[in-house]
Amino acid sequence: MVKPSIIAIDGPAASGKSTLGERLAQRIGYLFFDTGILYRAVTWAALQKLGRVDQEDEVSALSEEVNIDVRPPSITDGRSADVCINGVDITWDIRSSDVDANVSQVSAYPRVRQAMTRLQRRIGQRGGVVMVGRDIGTVVFPEAELKIYLVATVEERARRRYHELTARGEIAEYDQILASLRWRDAYDSGRKLAPLRPAEDAIILDSEGLTIEQVVERALELIEKA
Ligand code: C5P
Repeated sequence: MVKPSIIAIDGPAASGKSTLGERLAQRIGYLFFDTGILYRAVTWAALQKLGRVDQEDEVSALSEEVNIDVRPPSITDGRSADVCINGVDITWDIRSSDVDANVSQVSAYPRVRQAMTRLQRRIGQRGGVVMVGRDIGTVVFPEAELKIYLVATVEERARRRYHELTARGEIAEYDQILASLRWRDAYDSGRKLAPLRPAEDAIILDSEGLTIEQVVERALELIEKA
């Protein structure tokens, strides 16, 4: 079977893209890359350095100079990768509610998107990669041979995120998660540049009522057909 060189997986927040991407990559021996990590890392760095993210020029300059190091996981604690900035492990810091609340604003800045898109293209250019995000099929790799757009209702996504957080021992509130996902989806879909939307040739995969194994099997069928 000749597999597509690049597999793009896009979709709204907490739709299960990363879990699917990671398992799929494992099954077919591809590299898995979650692009949300980059936008989250820039947001974390901006909050650390500036304490806020509304200064577009400063945040953009930071995104162009910051050195985000993404490597295979060195610890088995549920992470899919080690994420470091200047040698500091920020893998879990970038998942904080503070980053959640600010990442969409940072991601809408054109210079930030330009810098991150450049990085993603460099990572994906050799092929053999499953790349996950919001604009992989539309902007980063519009030539990808297989584009999957993963969906589930916002209530289902909030339930999954709630269980994920509480399983890690974090305090979580369902209603707050639901509101935050709704807000982030609206912001990501409404931005001018690279908005969240399926590419015209994307295949919509609805994970509602399916187990993760069933979603992976469907995706493997799509790879065979691609
Ligand atoms: O996928 P994740 O929830 O980690 O992404 C965090 C945020 O990063 C998204 O809400 C979106 O604003 C931004 N993002 C993006 N383009 C991507 C990946 C993520 O704008 N390709």
